Amino acid sequence: MTSDLHLHSTVSDGILKPADLVAQAYEAGIRILALTDHDSTDGINEATEKTQEYPDLILIPGVELSTDTNDGEIHILGYFLDIKNKDLQATLEEFRSDRLGRAQSIVEKLNHLGFSVEWDLVKEIAGDGSVGRPHIAEALLQNGHVESIKEAFDKLIGRNGPAYSERRKMEPSEAVNLITTYSGIPILAHPREVNNLENLLPALVDNGLKGMEVYYGLYSEEERLGYLNLCNKFDLLPTGGSDYHGPGRAAECDLGGSNTPEHIGSNLIQMHHDST
Ligand code: AMP
Ligand code: FE
Ligand code: FE
Ligand code: ZN
Repeated sequence: MTSDLHLHSTVSDGILKPADLVAQAYEAGIRILALTDHDSTDGINEATEKTQEYPDLILIPGVELSTDTNDGEIHILGYFLDIKNKDLQATLEEFRSDRLGRAQSIVEKLNHLGFSVEWDLVKEIAGDGSVGRPHIAEALLQNGHVESIKEAFDKLIGRNGPAYSERRKMEPSEAVNLITTYSGIPILAHPREVNNLENLLPALVDNGLKGMEVYYGLYSEEERLGYLNLCNKFDLLPTGGSDYHGPGRAAECDLGGSNTPEHIGSNLIQMHHDST
């Protein structure tokens, strides 16, 4: 039995509804899972309800925040946040509305470049959740401008692509502080994507970072060992998850495919209990 502490649903850029994700996670042998949608905890209630059907399944509430450094993006996961807090929800709402404006700007750029994409189509694909570039990529795919989601990122909407637009900038320390403010546990996501990781870690740890994903996607045993060593060096909790976005989304790996041992999820739960 395994844990999977990094999962997306239709509440952000995933394909599966929170309840379906819970059911499929259970089928895949996952017994501790965390829903970590981008800038939203709106799927937690539905997922919690579905989890009641499985007495031996534990759901951890989570969120994923995107931040920026001069060296690129860093994603910070927040677990066990006080999701009922109105100020937290207002802040997440702001992030989502910023995503909306940014997505519109990307769509405008695409249209100027001759890749026609209707805003209504993007809205329809995104539903009422957090809008993300995968939704725009899907619209590009449906309109026949690209042959895959990956091609959309590689050619057009990736960080260095011609139709890229930035979000409102947020420092990683801001995200760590925000999560801590609402009683959450901040964890660094997919460290392979982080440039200059070793140089950035001391400040993040000083800020209150509590852990780092070690079992991510298809990281090799060697990579895991490297990140595990960093966890030991900085006294961080190793966590892990697949970052599964659903069938058809260019996922790093399948649901549960990160092979995160069950005790990794238990350790995160223990850290939460110790802090309350
Ligand atoms: P956004 O949150 O709008 O900045 O979009 C980032 C999201 O796009 C990530 O969370 C992934 O789900 C997805 N993504 C990022 N890079 C790629 C890529 N090269 N191919 C496919 N999906 C990607
Ligand atoms: Fe995503
Ligand atoms: Fe991420
Ligand atoms: Zn993610």
